[in-house]
Amino acid sequence: MDWPALTCCTTVMILLFLPLSASDDQLVLGKPLLSDAIIVFDGGAFALGFFAPSNSTPAKLYLGIWYNGIPELTVVWVANRETQLIKNTSSSPMLSLTNTSNLILSDGDGGGRVIWTTQVATTPASSTSTAVLLNNGNFVIRSPNGTMLWQSFKHLTDTLLSGMKIRFRYVIHGEEERLVSWKGSDDPSPGHFSYGGDTNTLLQFFLWDGARPVARSAPWTGYLVKTEQRYQQANTSTEVIVYLAVVDSEKEIYMTYSLSDGAPRTRFVLTHSGHYQHHSWSNRSLTWEVLGQWPSAECSSYGYCGPYGYCDETTAPVPTCKCLDGFEPANMEEWTSGRFLSGCRRKRPLGGCGDGFLALPGMKSPDGFARIGGSRSKRIKGNAVRIVLPVLGSSVLVLIFLAWLKLKGNKIIRRKHKNIRLNGMSTSDELGEEYHDQEIPFVRLEEIALATHDFSETCIIGKGGFGKVYKGILGGQEVAVKRLSKDSHQGTHEFKNEVILIAKLQHRNLVRLLGCCGEGNEKILIYEYLPNGSLDANLFDESKKLLLNWRTRFSIIKGVARGLLYVHEDSRLTIIHRDLKAGNVLLDADLKPKIADFGMARLFGDNQQNANTQHVVGTYGYMAPEYALEGIISMKSDVYSFGVLLLEVVTGIRRNSNGHTMSFPSLTVYAWNMWKEGKTEELADSTLLDNYSPDEVLLCIHVGLMCVQENPDDRPLMSNVVFALENGSTTLPTPNIPAYFARRSAEIEQIRVDIQNSVNSFTLSEIQGR
Ligand code: ATP
Repeated sequence: MDWPALTCCTTVMILLFLPLSASDDQLVLGKPLLSDAIIVFDGGAFALGFFAPSNSTPAKLYLGIWYNGIPELTVVWVANRETQLIKNTSSSPMLSLTNTSNLILSDGDGGGRVIWTTQVATTPASSTSTAVLLNNGNFVIRSPNGTMLWQSFKHLTDTLLSGMKIRFRYVIHGEEERLVSWKGSDDPSPGHFSYGGDTNTLLQFFLWDGARPVARSAPWTGYLVKTEQRYQQANTSTEVIVYLAVVDSEKEIYMTYSLSDGAPRTRFVLTHSGHYQHHSWSNRSLTWEVLGQWPSAECSSYGYCGPYGYCDETTAPVPTCKCLDGFEPANMEEWTSGRFLSGCRRKRPLGGCGDGFLALPGMKSPDGFARIGGSRSKRIKGNAVRIVLPVLGSSVLVLIFLAWLKLKGNKIIRRKHKNIRLNGMSTSDELGEEYHDQEIPFVRLEEIALATHDFSETCIIGKGGFGKVYKGILGGQEVAVKRLSKDSHQGTHEFKNEVILIAKLQHRNLVRLLGCCGEGNEKILIYEYLPNGSLDANLFDESKKLLLNWRTRFSIIKGVARGLLYVHEDSRLTIIHRDLKAGNVLLDADLKPKIADFGMARLFGDNQQNANTQHVVGTYGYMAPEYALEGIISMKSDVYSFGVLLLEVVTGIRRNSNGHTMSFPSLTVYAWNMWKEGKTEELADSTLLDNYSPDEVLLCIHVGLMCVQENPDDRPLMSNVVFALENGSTTLPTPNIPAYFARRSAEIEQIRVDIQNSVNSFTLSEIQGR
């Protein structure tokens, strides 16, 4: 079997050995499976054997089952999760079948430590059983008469394969069954997260982080239906149909699924970062495509909308929290910035004459309000096997299978923490004393070097103005490592800014800073990794842009607007980004946007509305005229950049594209002209075909044109922008001529050149789009 070279950019696991011959597709008494062999049954879909999850510790082995015949080692079951096997010169791990029909995993021949064993209760027999790996990935012990004595499918790890079951404790008197995540991408030992049914109430599915619920489905009400979901793999005609069922029998209730004939390899996995994901193998891209994920959106997180709040999923594409009638946000400031934990409070005290009850249809009942009653037990008794549909409307199962969006469960890297004091920092004037003792995770250079294969070229995922960006895995988590170039004078300053500022900024639409390193000359920032890269790389790529349907684009626009609103108006500090552009918006696995690169952010005091700077940074075409030409920065210069970005997202046209904007000097001018002529709809990217909402396109273009007006005072604040985008305002004022419209572009270019040439004047860096 030929496995590809391992790189830092994929989950690193070592597959140690080649399969034995076809005759070795089962385990029998006296013929153990040694650590240099694997079992592959007839059909060859799965393999069983020993594997080392980490290439840094190749001697630490686990017995597991993985997909056979794909180039990425994908383990679906592990026997000895708790205790790893050690392979060394004195011990050679093996799996044996005993004459009591049990499997024993030991460190080695005679006297070896028993690491793991099955618990089949039989008496020793002369004609013994066999252990076979079935073609569905189930490893079973069969008695001589064919009875199944034990099966791996009944011992869940982190993966649910077709035909596996998740059973619920209150029906059978055994342990409840849950999927339990790995601890890290290279550590199969049981992690924090688990997924299964909660049986204290009517059946609900939960995802827990330890004992804390992270997400909850709606309770099952027992409709007698089976459900099926269809998916299309990206850019292919390959269809995956998942038949999902909750089966209610006399003995047990369980959830299971099966796949349509010919469907590609498909699995559900509880990731080590706490997401229950639906994966399907693409033979085209040779990767696992994530078809769905739960929790899918903020709203599906447990208690996300706070007391008396509820999630309104009809406000698609972005579900949002609302207060029940008669209630209002308890903390309006938090609420408008997208933080809902404080929930809602009554507008007026109870006891008025109008008080009463209100029916709220289509809601998931609150946790703990739907307890199991007599009717539940009657129903179980009175029925033979039947297939029932759990409440799928807003429940976990629908979310699992329908949701395409992912929340980043950004776990801060739990590394050695230490106060970072950056030499020579003089930030008190800008930051105030309170920001001097920030504790942010400090990661040793040695660890970062290990995670990036010593900053190997193969791990580079991008290059920016201040250095290279690498992908690595730290603490089991994928991270982006930004190594500021040593010779970058600016880089030092930006580093200090980013470390202190970004550590304070936490919002779902901002890229999270997870840690940093300031050893010697090195200045390194560690960010959460956003697998879909920059918006720019997606939006202007002929094939990738097809993934950006209107719903996604509108949600990206709103997400960026919210992120910018947060840094402008809602965080404790007022921050101007100064380089907002499509290249600085990164997309997570579900194409949700996060604003990156606050290295050039400029901190403002509370009373400052704007400031003059001697050092103009930014990207030509996104820069507001007053900033590019006079160095005046304010929130309104960011609003301008946002407007340009918005127009790019709607039209799919680069701000400075000549080909698309016909005779017009820029996208802003082109868009304004079309809008003036009542042809706004024609501005929608042609790759959207007719699949967009004309009203939303109109709204976006209108808002975009408001943002790119010449006079900063005419431009809206981001709070107005967010409000307009979310509420579909029909009363927006008429936008004035956009910046650069009134002046001829040649004139502008001349001013720009003059500025560049001027000595002791401010510098205009990054004038070309990258
Ligand atoms: P500049 O720094 O001059 O603004 P830039 O934004 O392109 O330019 P970087 O922020 O250094 O530069 O990023 C370079 C590229 O690295 C990005 O375009 C993106 O493809 C990749 N990248 C950066 N951060 C991440 C991240 N957190 N996750 C995934 N990819 C990233």
